Amino acid sequence: MLLVVALSAWHLHAVQKAAGRVASEEWPRMLALQELATHAQGHGAAMARLLTAPRVQREAIYPALDAESAAMDRLTAELTQRVTEPESLVLVRELDASRHRYREVFAEVGLWIESGEPAKAAELFAADGQPALDRLMNLARQLAQTQQRSVGAWQGRAADRVNDAEAQLIVISLLSLVAAAVLAWRIGRGVAQPMARLAETAKRLAGGELQARVGFAAKLGPREVERVGVALDAMAEALAQRNAHIEAIAFSDPITGLPNRAGLLREMQEAAHEHAAAPRAEPDTALLFDVARLAAVNDVLGPAAGDALLHTLGHSLHNLASVKGWHVAHLGAGTFSVVWHPEPQAAEAEVERVRLAVLAALSAPVACAGVHIDAQFHCGWSRAAPGLDGGIDHGRTLREAEEALADAKRLRTDVRRFARSDPQQRRRQLVLLGSLRQAAASGGLQMWLQPKVALAGKTPTHCHGFEALVRWRHAEWGMVSPAEFVPFAEAAGMVGVITRCMLKQALRFLGQPAVQAQGLQLSVNVSTADLLDEDFSSWLCEQAQAAGAPLDRLILEITEGRLMDDAERALPVMHALRAAGVRWSIDDFGTGYSSLAYLQRLPVSELKVDRSFVDHVDASAARVALLRSIVQLGHGLGLQVTAEGIERVEEWTELTNAGCDLAQGWLVARPMPPDAALAWLAERSPAPALQPLETTA
Ligand code: C2E
Ligand code: MG
Ligand code: MG
Repeated sequence: MLLVVALSAWHLHAVQKAAGRVASEEWPRMLALQELATHAQGHGAAMARLLTAPRVQREAIYPALDAESAAMDRLTAELTQRVTEPESLVLVRELDASRHRYREVFAEVGLWIESGEPAKAAELFAADGQPALDRLMNLARQLAQTQQRSVGAWQGRAADRVNDAEAQLIVISLLSLVAAAVLAWRIGRGVAQPMARLAETAKRLAGGELQARVGFAAKLGPREVERVGVALDAMAEALAQRNAHIEAIAFSDPITGLPNRAGLLREMQEAAHEHAAAPRAEPDTALLFDVARLAAVNDVLGPAAGDALLHTLGHSLHNLASVKGWHVAHLGAGTFSVVWHPEPQAAEAEVERVRLAVLAALSAPVACAGVHIDAQFHCGWSRAAPGLDGGIDHGRTLREAEEALADAKRLRTDVRRFARSDPQQRRRQLVLLGSLRQAAASGGLQMWLQPKVALAGKTPTHCHGFEALVRWRHAEWGMVSPAEFVPFAEAAGMVGVITRCMLKQALRFLGQPAVQAQGLQLSVNVSTADLLDEDFSSWLCEQAQAAGAPLDRLILEITEGRLMDDAERALPVMHALRAAGVRWSIDDFGTGYSSLAYLQRLPVSELKVDRSFVDHVDASAARVALLRSIVQLGHGLGLQVTAEGIERVEEWTELTNAGCDLAQGWLVARPMPPDAALAWLAERSPAPALQPLETTA
């Protein structure tokens, strides 16, 4: 463009310069020549009048002749100065000579006229004057023509020049256009294209497509654009990594590496999407496995051992599930889940097959902190009921399976299925709850006793006392197990009815002189809800006083799991009653999630090791080691350790070897009414040898 402008300016300047010269020199010269010719003609005409005019009229003609002569002189002098071209210069000199000649002839003609010889004057003018004047006029015209030609030539040159300039400008403009197009194409390729790619990638990233990359592998654009691309890719990489990290935290469990609850639900959603065409094949059954006694492993061997156990179990479960095509997850604490789609017609049998397959895969003892642990499991499962739209609420299926698992743990059974609609069972629970107060008031809730004996040898050496267990003799259903109504009474906030009823009977028993004489202790189960009742301790003390029962003979058992839920609020009542002589015992130890360190803060005197630690403890060295560690730790905390649920002589032997203090179980005696318990006691002194269960039961 600059070239175009410069070239145009140059051409314009040249044309302007030439035009200036024409305007200042050629043009005035041409005008002067034309003027000269006109004046010469005017002079000639005046002379013709002068030659024929009478004297009177001549006086008036002379001034006109003088003016014409003066003009001719002035113009001739001007031309002599201005003309420089050699060709024109010759003509100008000739013109000047003709002018001189004419002036001499005019002077002589004037003399002849004024001397009264007009004929001679006319003769002289015709012979010399008129030819000189014609010559002068011809020369002037000739010069004017030359001048005109020169101007014409200049005009032609100027037009050529303008045409040349035009052509040059067109060529240059076309070249510029081509250059601009090439440049635009280059820019398009070099800048616009990479920029579009950058914008597209940024848009995809913003839309959550974190694997989007600019990927300027080859040199695609200017350095700056490339740098922006590289920076964008680095940012996308960092974003993807951070997102993967967040996803890992949000959707997987750090201990096992398996999906967590959120991860499992996400997998289920994806599976539902995949099976959209065949919703009947969608995974719909959740089977949960809960590691029994995990808290005890954490307590005794340390949390790292618990984590290692979960990690190994998770690994084995993952290996099995990836072969079978199941979805597995670690839902938290010790709970694993398996979700799949069993054959609808034989779902129940398939669940059992899967359960046994998983148990077989997870049954290998796991080495943790130098000890081999053979994990045991409670199971709960549920099969989804499709909603009205045919879809499955997987969150609900998991919750139902968890409910079933909680039932299995509470009822101490291996496996429970979620009972979606068992109207009969529901009705039975409602009826029991509705008649609980009345049963308590009318003696329907009875206290049965199970002996607690010392474990100091091959025989039960000494009966320390009993555990009071509630029995409901129901008019319609006969003897109802506490497992069937205590949890529901707790959930309904009515467990206090049972506790107070049982405590009244227990204190009456302890108030009996015969019982006091034998120094027997009585353990009563209470619920955490009782301890949240501020009047509980004063009520108990009043009842003890009324019954004449020494409170230092009373032990209150509280379940570990429930105590931990509300320990802070339960503490004041525990301390108040401890101060009154009552001792506290942690029931079902090892089934909850408490830490022994925390238990130290409680005014506890006894640890009751849960039945699941005792059951077939002799079956493996690992189980023996775990039991021994618990007993040692209990002793380390200054607690009396009692084992629950001893059914076999081998278990008795292992517990004795482990140094356990007291034992309770069917091997010694089943729960029985108080009279029968006292009769049993009378029969047992001196302590008999232990018999296998079949004969003692
Ligand atoms: P728990 O306090 O741990 O009571 C021990 C349970 O184990 C009793 O079941 C007892 O009969 C049972 N048992 C004892 N020895 C053996 C044995 O060798 N083998 C087997 N398989 N079982 C044995 P029970 O009486 O059915 O009571 C179940 C649970 O109900 C109790 O567990 C306790 O948590 C609750 N419970 C019982 N009575 C009361 C009560 O008066 N108040 C409250 N709040 N809960 C009670
Ligand atoms: Mg108990
Ligand atoms: Mg127990």
